[in-house]
Amino acid sequence: MPELPEVETVRRGLEPVLTGHVITEALVNRPNLRWPFPERMAERLTGQRILALRRRSKYILADLDSGESLLIHLGMSGRMLVSGAMLGEFHHDHPAPAKHDHVVLTMDSGARVTFNDARRFGSMDLMPTDHAAEHPLLAGLGPEPLGNAFHEAYLIGRLKGRNTPIKAALLDQRVVAGLGNIYVCEALFRAGIDPTRKAGALSAETVASLVPIIRQVLGEAIEAGGSSLRDYRQADGELGYFQHTFRVYDREGQPCVTPGCPGIVGRIVQSGRSTFHCPICQR
Ligand SMILES: [Zn+2]
Repeated sequence: MPELPEVETVRRGLEPVLTGHVITEALVNRPNLRWPFPERMAERLTGQRILALRRRSKYILADLDSGESLLIHLGMSGRMLVSGAMLGEFHHDHPAPAKHDHVVLTMDSGARVTFNDARRFGSMDLMPTDHAAEHPLLAGLGPEPLGNAFHEAYLIGRLKGRNTPIKAALLDQRVVAGLGNIYVCEALFRAGIDPTRKAGALSAETVASLVPIIRQVLGEAIEAGGSSLRDYRQADGELGYFQHTFRVYDREGQPCVTPGCPGIVGRIVQSGRSTFHCPICQR
């Protein structure tokens, strides 16, 4: 499932192909994905210039010159494929239409962007750009973890008195938007915090330490995604999936990477999700 860094990588890969360009043809091959597509979606997209491509949490927003924005959510298995354009060092020719190609946008440059989603948990919607922040998928979201509204005093205030484990509190999208299981595990490991501790019981200093660590963990992953846009793994024109090494995530039974720590990475289940942690240096 794509997390924030993967979505940001997709956005950066799409930007040169979409921003400033006009959609000359929009092909919508089915009436719905997870939810029905908006009415007359193909018509409302055709002929529109894309003014900007933004990301909010794990959603991509394309602002159109009609005053509407196209919201794109990749869901569990959504993939964005670029063809007829340069992507890093590669030129990708248009592939033959494939199964699960649900939406195909052809741009005035001749480039094509295909949204392929085998499991159909993804979604697309159109809304007035002015009211995008009020869209049901976006309205309740907390600040962006890489934005200015996410800072030490904010997080300390938000977690004060909370009885939930710190792991669950950081996964709460109202507290901070777009943080998922992988990067919460990584951040808590780097901060040396036991994921089962109650959020409200952590010292202000400990909570404050999480802010730069969360930014760092996400920043490193986005950087890895950025290099993937230029290298061979993207040779098929697919955006957003890249190899990234984790310090604790998915490393159950392996030695802790903290220098001098004799711990073995453990896995526990919290609210139905796997938490990977070092029982020695996370306390
Ligand atoms: Zn350790």
